[in-house]
Amino acid sequence: MSAPKALTARGAILSGCKRLLSARHYSSSTPLLDRHLSVAIVGSGPSGMYTAKYLQSALANPKLASLPSTHSIDVIERLPTPFGLVRSGVAPDHPEVKSVEKDFREVFERNIGDSSSSSRQLGVAFRGNVEVGRDISLVELRRLYDIVVLAYGCDSDRRLGIPGENLQGVVSAREFVGWYNGHPRDVDLTEPLSELLSNPAEKSVSVIGQGNVALDCARVLAKGGEGLRSTDISAHSLPVLGGGVGKVTVLGRRGHVQGAFTIKELRELTKLSKEGHGVSFHVREDELDLGMTDSSRQELEGRLGRPKGRINKLLRAAAAVAHDPKAAKEVHLRFLLNPVEFVPDTADPTFVGSIICERTRLGGDPGKQSAVATGEYETIPTHLALTSIGYKGKALPGMGDIFNESEGVIVNQNGQIYGADESTGAGLYCSGWIKRGPSGIIGTNISDAKETVASILRDISTDVAPPHIGREQYNHGREGLDAILKERETQVVDWPGYIKIDLAEKSASNLRHEDQPREKMTRVEDMLAALRAL
Ligand code: FAD
Ligand code: NAP
Repeated sequence: MSAPKALTARGAILSGCKRLLSARHYSSSTPLLDRHLSVAIVGSGPSGMYTAKYLQSALANPKLASLPSTHSIDVIERLPTPFGLVRSGVAPDHPEVKSVEKDFREVFERNIGDSSSSSRQLGVAFRGNVEVGRDISLVELRRLYDIVVLAYGCDSDRRLGIPGENLQGVVSAREFVGWYNGHPRDVDLTEPLSELLSNPAEKSVSVIGQGNVALDCARVLAKGGEGLRSTDISAHSLPVLGGGVGKVTVLGRRGHVQGAFTIKELRELTKLSKEGHGVSFHVREDELDLGMTDSSRQELEGRLGRPKGRINKLLRAAAAVAHDPKAAKEVHLRFLLNPVEFVPDTADPTFVGSIICERTRLGGDPGKQSAVATGEYETIPTHLALTSIGYKGKALPGMGDIFNESEGVIVNQNGQIYGADESTGAGLYCSGWIKRGPSGIIGTNISDAKETVASILRDISTDVAPPHIGREQYNHGREGLDAILKERETQVVDWPGYIKIDLAEKSASNLRHEDQPREKMTRVEDMLAALRAL
């Protein structure tokens, strides 16, 4: 099968729709036309939800009346709660970002009868507490559905690969973020973090990496539980973070012009003192100067360089400002320091005590500068080291060659996955971080999902999506999924079920502050028990 040509996302959707309308083989005698089109989307994060949204609207387009007469889209999520990193990644003090949930909820609420298991119903259904690879296999899903879209994100970490990375006190930012945001996977970090951060005002934390996740972690650590009481930060983190950590150092191996953070997040760090959090922001002029190579200067030029130019200006201004003597806590943004070793603590060598960093200089052409070792070292004492150097995707069991292990992404072209055994069932597609790697904001997943939807529409129109062959053995789509899960005694959480959890989390009796949006349930068994009791 030849790979399709790349198209822009919008152009691709239009082109897919046109081909769908004009496809000759879509006559009334076409089998696909006569039957129901069943779609499973694995993952209810932004990419899964945008894929559901745009696929639903394309399939409901009256101009495409000659499409399969009915369709169902089932969003399968391993947690009882939807929306992926919008719930468990986005920082608690960024509630405006989470308002995207309203858009996602509408995708489910536009439905006709989610509680019915009839796969003849139109609409999008939520099937929470169902993990692909645990409760149902990918092979089974492909036998049940015409189309399977993998949108399960990146749930592992890039590794530094330096000595001491396995010491206690070296924790990935992914787990730390999951912990303060109440992800059930990470709640057990409360005990080790309480130990590492006991008396937080006297503790030093290093964050390695300079993306927005690193800046989120630094801000949360500096504000502490007291500064975040009115947010939806999980209750278990309040006593651990206390009034905030005494010193947070964010380490970048390259210069400030190459930092992966954006100005909004940087400005928030610089304003912590002004906003009454008692945190002074430190940046060193000598490090800013060191990073200002000819190539860096060129990177600041032109329209593309403007955002970096604003960051340069903000950091220069911050470096010149006298620090608030009343600020008891400090955040340091350090540049051109590459961690080379985590050193055990002298009192207890099972724990990290410091990080040895090598001073780097920048080398290379504009846009391609890398950190070059200099042979000079600096040791930074640390009680907790958060590695924030990027998330990484994992294969689902049995994926084989369609997964690129080194990149941690599914091999695909415009969202279509080639190379899976096509005789075994559904057409296979992917969307979001697991498709393109762990970068991009929520909005980036819109064009990404549209591209995948366009590939699906194009393939339906050209019959690339293989016919459903499992019909004799399995029920089709949603009915079949529900039957298998019932047989396996999986307690599935449907949309009305999630709404009950949502209401319980927002119930005033569970909130500590009048502005707190919700208190998240953090244990799957508690959520399921609550549903059984309601
Ligand atoms: P995810 O959001 O990770 O969703 C994947 C979903 O799949 C999850 O719900 C997961 O539980 C589910 N899943 C995983 N495995 C399985 C399985 N086997 N079976 C069933 N379900 C499964 N962007 C912004 O615009 N603003 C921000 O403020 C912002 N903050 C961020 C903070 C952090 C810490 C991070 C890491 C990212 C942030 N982003 C932000 C980026 C944004 O969150 C991502 O672009 C987006 O979440 C990626 O969407 P996704 O659907 O690909 O992955
Ligand atoms: P990221 O933006 O890719 O940043 C990763 C950081 O880690 C970079 O500074 C990188 O430096 C560094 N790094 C990588 N490998 C390293 C190594 N071996 N040693 C030292 N440093 C290393 O990743 P992220 O922060 O996890 O964010 C993921 C995505 O989510 C991003 O697109 C981000 O914008 C988005 N997000 C957005 C928000 C928001 O909008 N508020 C919040 C959080 C996350 P180099 O450049 O030198 O490689």
